[in-house]
Amino acid sequence: MSIAALERAPLRGRLRFDEPAAKHTAWRIGGPIARFYEPAGVDDLLRFLQILPNTDVVVWTGTGCNLLVRDGGFPGTVVAPRRAFDHIEIAAESVVRAGAGVRLPKLARFCAQQGLGGAQVFANWPHTLGGALQMCVSREQQSLWPLVEHVVTLDRYGERRTLTMAALRERGYLRNEWLVAAQLRFGAPPSEPRFARARTNAGHGPLFRAAQGREVHDLIRQAGLEGIRSGGVELTVDDANYVHVKKNACVSDLERLIVRVQNTVRAKFGVRLERQVQLVGRHR
Ligand SMILES: Cc1cc2nc3c(=O)[nH]c(=O)nc-3n(C[C@H](O)[C@H](O)[C@H](O)COP(=O)(O)OP(=O)(O)OC[C@H]3O[C@@H](n4cnc5c(N)ncnc54)[C@H](O)[C@@H]3O)c2cc1C
Repeated sequence: MSIAALERAPLRGRLRFDEPAAKHTAWRIGGPIARFYEPAGVDDLLRFLQILPNTDVVVWTGTGCNLLVRDGGFPGTVVAPRRAFDHIEIAAESVVRAGAGVRLPKLARFCAQQGLGGAQVFANWPHTLGGALQMCVSREQQSLWPLVEHVVTLDRYGERRTLTMAALRERGYLRNEWLVAAQLRFGAPPSEPRFARARTNAGHGPLFRAAQGREVHDLIRQAGLEGIRSGGVELTVDDANYVHVKKNACVSDLERLIVRVQNTVRAKFGVRLERQVQLVGRHR
């Protein structure tokens, strides 16, 4: 089917064309997204995926803490499933079933109310469950994954699968499919500190993943890069793995800064810093 059919389809939710990515990523920068869809429910999403031409590239987003669209724009479709997959319930004793669009502070609050332990640690992470699991899927031990009993995925053709971590690993992790829900087993009533109120100011993610057991911000500081600028983007002094993004900034400023840091750290310490933030779309 054609893109014109999308405009005519009776889809609930919000479908926007040439939508500025800056409105939907925590970085507040980025070029236009050809199609941006926030389904109201699962049925709308399934209908949308059926209508969308098979050749269209589809990317999902959570809170956009770690997703950026280059300044030239993204010619495909971004799906934001926050409203469609926002459910959360008790599935069995100590077991919680939650939609991929649930934000982690909400999940942590729910667990605290149910007297379940193990969720306090991510109470202040602003991300969605889907985004957090996706970002850590190949580094399963360093994240929420040890709590996961299984996940439910949806592919480009609307097929759902229930997969354990072992099954995911065997398949080579998520390929052309997205997370719609997860079942997580939590611990006994919290022995952890009292439930802390979640931060409401989301903020974007760090630039680089942990590097060969070394603290990224130490490497950047020791390389003498603390506080350096590229256009409207500047490394912060508090934690050199984060940036201040000014109003006039663009994604190419950030990309240039990332490459400069990577090259300098590699030249000085022989350490390859792996970029954490995901970039999609075209250069201007
Ligand atoms: C303050 C802060 C601290 C952090 N600390 C850590 C840390 O200690 N360790 C660590 O590993 N990470 C850390 N992160 C990064 C964090 O893991 C990611 O930022 C977060 O998981 C992204 O969630 P999001 O909802 O914003 O997803 P987005 O940024 O919107 O998306 C991130 C990626 O996930 C994909 N995605 C989103 N939703 C889905 C879905 N439902 N199914 C499949 N794919 C999806 C997107 O396409 C994109 O590739 C930190 C981030 C912040 C802001």
